[in-house]
Amino acid sequence: ERADSQQAIEALQSRMRQQQVPVDFWQARAVRDAAPQLSEQIQGGLFFPRTGHFLDPFRVVGELVHAAKSSGVQFLKQRVEGGQLSELGVSLITDQGRFSSRQVLIACGAHSAKLTAALTGKKVPLDTERGYHLMLPHEHGRLPFAVTSLERKFIMTPMTDGLRLAGTVEFAGLDSPPTMERAWQLHRLSKGLFKHDLSAEAATPWMGFRPSLPDSLPIIDRVCDGKVLLAFGHQHLGLTQAAVTAEMIAQMASPLIGAQPHSLPATAPYRLDRF
Ligand SMILES: Cc1cc2nc3c(=O)[nH]c(=O)nc-3n(C[C@H](O)[C@H](O)[C@H](O)COP(=O)(O)OP(=O)(O)OC[C@H]3O[C@@H](n4cnc5c(N)ncnc54)[C@H](O)[C@@H]3O)c2cc1C
Repeated sequence: ERADSQQAIEALQSRMRQQQVPVDFWQARAVRDAAPQLSEQIQGGLFFPRTGHFLDPFRVVGELVHAAKSSGVQFLKQRVEGGQLSELGVSLITDQGRFSSRQVLIACGAHSAKLTAALTGKKVPLDTERGYHLMLPHEHGRLPFAVTSLERKFIMTPMTDGLRLAGTVEFAGLDSPPTMERAWQLHRLSKGLFKHDLSAEAATPWMGFRPSLPDSLPIIDRVCDGKVLLAFGHQHLGLTQAAVTAEMIAQMASPLIGAQPHSLPATAPYRLDRF
């Protein structure tokens, strides 16, 4: 939007290129051609040609559950309240009684610290960066792809159910009530980014807990003689990193299933004992 952002955008482009992320610089004309509803004030942008996004994350999860059930996975919906190691594995205390298992995976997002401490004795410095979105159900066809504003620092994503405005970081822990004003603020932030302002009619606000560790890397590990697997702390990128995390965990859970068809990241940066 602003001419003085040029330096920031060049720095971002060069950082991305160093990480082998394909990225192109677009002048104002190219932005207008691709997204004609954006304001003429926009002076340029970075286009990430290899980036995609989910149109309906809930449906994706539904399909995964369906596929898992079809291959014999059983789902139990219980709140885990505590647990301990046993001779043969792990014993969990849930809101519906006790549950024993040879191996458990802790993947409770920002709520993972308590069970990790109970099973491994390790206190992980896990906190939550609370984030918000505002779903605009009357906004369809405004953008051909997700657009982030460099200056305003939030993202607008076209989805099946409308346009989703998302962003903000709030440090307020797991228990305090959501500050939904932060979600509504995203609509005000969008003013001026389009030729015509976005409609907030029937908009719905939402808050979620990003699970974050001080070095911005997740914990993906196999500990306690293989009785406990860990996969949490994916901060702002849990959806992006879900598939590769799942492959790493599958490998740790069943090392005998053989190597994945493509190489997986080295596990050392993600170990529990770095804390
Ligand atoms: C506004 C916002 C926008 C985001 N946008 C993106 C994005 O564009 N791309 C991206 O990659 N990431 C994004 N993220 C981050 C992403 O949502 C998280 O990184 C991701 O959800 C973490 O996944 P998770 O499975 O570890 O934790 P969660 O998604 O929090 O899931 C944890 C699960 O554990 C369950 N659970 C917790 N405690 C217990 C217990 N005691 N017993 C039983 N079950 C329990 C919960 O019910 C929940 O189902 C965004 C986050 C926010 C807030």
